Amino acid sequence: MRRRQKRVLAQQRGEQKPREKVSREVIIPDLITIQELANRMAERAVDVVKIMMQQGQMVQPSDNIDTEMAELIVEEMGHTAKRVSEADVEEGFITEETDENLLVTRAPIVTVMGHVDHGKTSLLDAFRNADVVDGEAGGITQHIGAYQVSADDGQLITFLDTPGHAAFTEMRARGANATDIVILVVAADDGVMPQTIEAINHSKAAGVPLIVAINKMDKPSADPSRVRNELLQHEIFVESLGGDILEVEVSALKKTGLDKLMDAILLQAELVDMKANPDRQADGVVVEAKLDRGRGPVATMLVQNGTLKIGNIIVAGTTYGKVRALINDHDQNVAKAGPSMPVEILGLSEVPLAGEPFAVVATEARARELVEYRINKVRDMSSIVDNSGITSLESMMASLKASEMKEFNILIKGDVQGSVEAILGALAKLGNDEVKARIIHSGVGAINETDVQLAAASNAIIMAFNVRANPQAKLQAEREGNEIRYYSIIYNLIDDVRDAMSGLLDPTLKENFIGYAKILEIFDISKLGKIGGCTVTEGIVRRGSSVRLLRDDVVIHEGKLSTLKRFKDEVKEVSVGQECGMAFEKYHDLKVNDVIECFEIEVIERKLEA
Ligand code: GDP
Repeated sequence: MRRRQKRVLAQQRGEQKPREKVSREVIIPDLITIQELANRMAERAVDVVKIMMQQGQMVQPSDNIDTEMAELIVEEMGHTAKRVSEADVEEGFITEETDENLLVTRAPIVTVMGHVDHGKTSLLDAFRNADVVDGEAGGITQHIGAYQVSADDGQLITFLDTPGHAAFTEMRARGANATDIVILVVAADDGVMPQTIEAINHSKAAGVPLIVAINKMDKPSADPSRVRNELLQHEIFVESLGGDILEVEVSALKKTGLDKLMDAILLQAELVDMKANPDRQADGVVVEAKLDRGRGPVATMLVQNGTLKIGNIIVAGTTYGKVRALINDHDQNVAKAGPSMPVEILGLSEVPLAGEPFAVVATEARARELVEYRINKVRDMSSIVDNSGITSLESMMASLKASEMKEFNILIKGDVQGSVEAILGALAKLGNDEVKARIIHSGVGAINETDVQLAAASNAIIMAFNVRANPQAKLQAEREGNEIRYYSIIYNLIDDVRDAMSGLLDPTLKENFIGYAKILEIFDISKLGKIGGCTVTEGIVRRGSSVRLLRDDVVIHEGKLSTLKRFKDEVKEVSVGQECGMAFEKYHDLKVNDVIECFEIEVIERKLEA
């Protein structure tokens, strides 16, 4: 009987005997969920949770943890951690040119924006066709998303032919500011319309200068002065009204005023003084890309710096490849493309996203490293539900807290002009010289896709007052990870913004004195170093509180206590009149008659005045 029991027990033990443990190298990104970390270690998530609980943290497998914590856990479980931080891999991908002497002027890059049917496409077509070089074969090809036009004196202007504000903002959302100048097309017979305002806000948010093109001047009903006055209401002061925004009257249909518009662009370009160094590895931005049946992935790229050449290895987002062919806007094969020049590129492994920045890298190995890192990062992010590069009120507070700029970006949509204005008025009163609410766009009506894009590009919270997002916008917001907050009471909206902004105020730190102790004797203890035998002369001393060492009333050290003993025991606190042993962390220069000052730092959160 006994023997059988023993055997059964041994068998059970045998089954439960842990498998030979494999120590793994675990790659840790900037943020990771507990579940994903467990997967990478080939451990169970519950075991990771257990470790966290031992550290006093209650978590779930779906929670995110930071790199330090992840590293600790990995080591605790017998693996080795390898951190990959964005800085290591992305470092040097696109670098600013620092040597002023190498910079030469480049062509300005122009985007056309405006209300639907005001003539964006017509204007772009007019410029495109104006550049058919004296009967020379092959004008600008229709299918390319960007092209260059030369003015009378040979100066070049690059047009991005991706009408619609979405393209403009989408690029910005991906971190590329491809546009130097925005042309705002306003039809003279129609005036300022909702998308005109949207375009104004988009370009303002991007900090890109505007030129107003008052179009359809050929129409009998054209009323350019009405356009000028309406623009005034949106803080667009055109030149003829004494402002500094250039305006040109044109007709895209009759092709009048185009030269003047080109002159205005070149004038504006001179003011901004756009420069690049052509003699370096190229970088720039993807304007558009598609999969071509015969040729594979084809991307139109705009070179912003350096010169792109056949044979270069380029990386754009999560794709890379060796440039096999470069095709210019006249459908001709070229060997290289310099700053501000758009080209089609063959040779990429996959189709990149429009708006993605690209750059030439030195080797294929480097290209692979970048792409692998980025693909992993995308995967890591998609496993993180609510805590990534995502604009929720909470995450925005966290990221703003870390940065200097304490502006709280908000996009507001409301049901009627009156309520929007009331909200704007109340928000303007919030804030102080440390934080302020910045309204990047406001308007009446449902939240649409461009609202979401604008908010995503500007890291703004969308606040909806008595309106809802349309289905496309809702999807878009989910994809971009933008938070939309809905309200039906103005006070609630204002309160939320105030609370969030209060979170951005640096807390006040208050020092509270708690006690003095005097050193009567010094003990040298091999394990602990020097210990001061003290008597508490005032208040109490507490373990864990901050301490200063005073000698003849001069502070000679500030730090923490490593030990606080009464007789042989570690104690939490010692009060006035009692004797104790004290030692500092990493500091041993104690002398008889020194005074130890004990204090605590109180963090007082501040709140904006209501
Ligand atoms: P988009 O929606 O802003 O791209 O506008 P389109 O370029 O498609 O133009 C909308 C309509 O306005 C078309 O029917 C054009 O022919 C017309 N249009 C554009 N420019 C002019 C112009 O200068 N004069 C007149 N009369 N019509 C124009």
